[in-house]
Amino acid sequence: MRFFSGPMDADRTHGQPLLVTTSWDDGHPSDLRVADLLEKHGLNGTFYVPSINSEGRPVMSATEIAQLGRRFEIGAHTRDHVSLTGLSPQVATDQILANKHWLEDILGEEVPGFAYVRGHHNRTVRSLVAKAGFRYARTGRNLMSTPGAHRFQVPTTTQFFPHSRSTYVRNYLSGGPSPRRTAILTTLLNDDRLATRVSRTAEACARSGGYFHLWGHSWELDAHSLWNELDRLLAQLRELAVRFVTNAGWCERVWRGGHDQALPFPGARHSA
Ligand SMILES: [Zn+2]
Repeated sequence: MRFFSGPMDADRTHGQPLLVTTSWDDGHPSDLRVADLLEKHGLNGTFYVPSINSEGRPVMSATEIAQLGRRFEIGAHTRDHVSLTGLSPQVATDQILANKHWLEDILGEEVPGFAYVRGHHNRTVRSLVAKAGFRYARTGRNLMSTPGAHRFQVPTTTQFFPHSRSTYVRNYLSGGPSPRRTAILTTLLNDDRLATRVSRTAEACARSGGYFHLWGHSWELDAHSLWNELDRLLAQLRELAVRFVTNAGWCERVWRGGHDQALPFPGARHSA
């Protein structure tokens, strides 16, 4: 499993290598096509996989998950793909642990990361995820160019989806206006095609926080015919002076040797 890749030269990113990660939710079989595109362009990322999807969409077979896990990081996403905030702590714990153990049996290694379904989390859910032994958890908070302050509230920059302007503005307002988030919102509101907008957002991240986190659903790429646009974006990201990491690699970069050493990352697996 690769946690870091990419050139370290810096030109368009103002002297600092932009740290780029991607994440892909729900374990749909089309994730394998995302993996091929990431490899084609030398990018990295993390795939969050539920055991089954109670919403009816297919999930990769155990064999496919094992194969994907040899190429990229696999994270957990609950057993049935359910929001945890409306469940009792016992039922939520079952959803978290059953998925973690299932994935670890398939992969033969630790699954360090978790993504909250629909981004729903609260203090209780975060505590249950930490107690289950995860090292970080990804949220749905977006328009961020910094990694945030809490490893169980890892934010993203933007979803690979052509949202309406009103959706971007609503996300901006609900997440708390700030100069850095305003700079990202501005790039996403222009009239360029999706790949160009998102690529310019990555450049805006390089000028401010230094982190760019793209996330998406492969089943949405199918439904909205976004594959060529993703190919175009990944090629453009490759041209930036970036370092490509998994979600775990991103978290390890943030917290290695930092203030939050309660759950230290294993050194060898997550080193550059
Ligand atoms: Zn999901």
